[in-house]
Amino acid sequence: MSKNLIGIMSYLLNENYLKILEYIADKKEFTEKEIKRQLKIKEEEIRKLLYILEENNIVYPISIINNNGKFDFRWGNRIQDKEKLFSLLINKEINRINEEIKNTPKTLYYCNECGSAYNFDEAYENDFICKECGSLLTEKENFRIIELENIIHNLQILLDKYSSKVAKKEKASRAKGKK
Ligand SMILES: [Zn+2]
Repeated sequence: MSKNLIGIMSYLLNENYLKILEYIADKKEFTEKEIKRQLKIKEEEIRKLLYILEENNIVYPISIINNNGKFDFRWGNRIQDKEKLFSLLINKEINRINEEIKNTPKTLYYCNECGSAYNFDEAYENDFICKECGSLLTEKENFRIIELENIIHNLQILLDKYSSKVAKKEKASRAKGKK
């Protein structure tokens, strides 16, 4: 039923990406081939993450290395502090997903027969009847919101994992104060 919802993730929950981030976190410079050799991760995947990090102003390209016709790329890391790097990226992702939650309808109109989902306008236009099978639609919480909240939850766990003990304590007391 929720086929289209599977796979919508945050890049920070990708295990290989986390391995790369851990590897480069405290390095001033590194090359793509070096990461490939050390972590046994495909070059395309490494490059995909590096482009995301470049967009986020974390890494920058330094030079192309020509090893007898085999090219490698040297990159620099602006942060060089594991905790800072992770908290910066994770908080940015959490903010981005919170923004998406804000812009996502809280409920959708679902067909119990075939699993199709419609937003309010679509459902209204069709007199709350499923276009696919003609069954009556019911309003339910939007699965997408649940999924996004789940991603945030996982990012928060990740954030805790990379936070120092002091930061963790502060967070815990803040959370206590809230409830
Ligand atoms: Zn239907």
